[in-house]
Amino acid sequence: MADKKTLLDVKDLSIIYTSRNETIHAVNGIDFNLQKGETLGIVGETGAGKSTTAYSILRLLPERTAKVTSGSIMFDDMDLLKISDGLMQHGIRGERISIIFQDPMSALNPIMRIGDQIAEALKFHNKENLTKEELEKQVDETLQLVGIQKERKDDYPHQLSGGMKQRVMIAIALVCEPDLIIADEPTTALDVTIQAQVLAMIENLKERFGTSMILITHDLGIVAQMCDRVAIMYAGKIIETGTVKDIFSKEMRHPYTEGLFGSLPNLETKSSRLHPIDGLMPDPANLPTGCKFYPRCPHCMPICKENEPTNITSGTHIVACHLYDSEKEKR
Ligand code: SF4
Repeated sequence: MADKKTLLDVKDLSIIYTSRNETIHAVNGIDFNLQKGETLGIVGETGAGKSTTAYSILRLLPERTAKVTSGSIMFDDMDLLKISDGLMQHGIRGERISIIFQDPMSALNPIMRIGDQIAEALKFHNKENLTKEELEKQVDETLQLVGIQKERKDDYPHQLSGGMKQRVMIAIALVCEPDLIIADEPTTALDVTIQAQVLAMIENLKERFGTSMILITHDLGIVAQMCDRVAIMYAGKIIETGTVKDIFSKEMRHPYTEGLFGSLPNLETKSSRLHPIDGLMPDPANLPTGCKFYPRCPHCMPICKENEPTNITSGTHIVACHLYDSEKEKR
C-alpha cells in the first residue's frame, strides 16, 4: 500500500461515557489508519467500541454523556476533534465523510419522500446554487446508481422494502461523492440474498468513485469479501490488525480472533458443533487489569493478569498478546 496516501490517521483515541454512578471506558487508546481507496474492516462483538469509534470520527457521540479523553483523528491535515462545529457540519460531515447507518428505517425521515431526502442532502452541502431541474436530474441519477427506478422518488420510506430503504441510505451517503464512507453494519437488518446484493453494490460504487471505507461488522465473511485490512476490537482496544490475508492465516492469531473463527461453521472440517467463546465481554465500567481478554482466554498465563500486552509486529500483522512475546518477556 506504499503508493497510496493516508486519508485518516487515528492516534491514542480514548472515549468514555459517564453517568451519575459510573464511567464506561468504551474506547481505550486505539491507533489505526486508512489509506486512500482502501477498505478497513473493524470487527468485534457488540460492546467492543466499534460504533463509538466510528461516530467519534463524525463527532456524532452524545454530547452530554460521551467524552473524548485523549487522542487525535487526522483527516487530511485536519484534526477532526479540533475543527469548528461549522466546518464539521458544512464541509466534512456528509460532504467529505458520510455514514450508512445500521437501521435505515430509523435513519430515514418517515414523512418525507425519498427523492426529497436525497435532494435535501445535495442542497445542504453547498449545492443550493443548482437549479430545480439540475437537482431533479441529480436525484434521478443517484437513484438509478443504487438500482432504484427514478419513478419511485415520490415514494415514502414505508412503501419500500428493507433492501430498497438501505439503497436510499447509500444514495444519500454517496450523493456528495465523499472521500470516506463509514458503513456501520450496513446489512445487518437485511436478509441474506438482499445483503449480498447491497454489498456488491457498495463495492461497485466504492470502486467507481475511489472512495475509502470503514466497514463495521461482526461478520468475518463480509470482511473476506469487502476489506483490504482488518482491525479486531475487544473491550475498547484493537487487539489485532493486518491485511485480510494476515487475519485469515493461522499464523500469530490472537486467541480472541481464534474464538471468532471458532464461532463460525467450517465446511472443511464438517464439525457438528460450533465453539463459541466462553464468557462475556468484561464490564466496561470495571475492566480487568492486564489483558482484557484474560477471563475468557484458554491460553491465559500469570503475566496476562498483571501486564497489558504490547503490540508485536510481523510485517503488516500486529497482535497484542503475551503468547507472542519473546520467552524472556514472558517470565
Ligand atoms: Fe490470552 Fe494472555 Fe494473549 Fe490475553 S495476552 S489473549 S490472556 S494469552
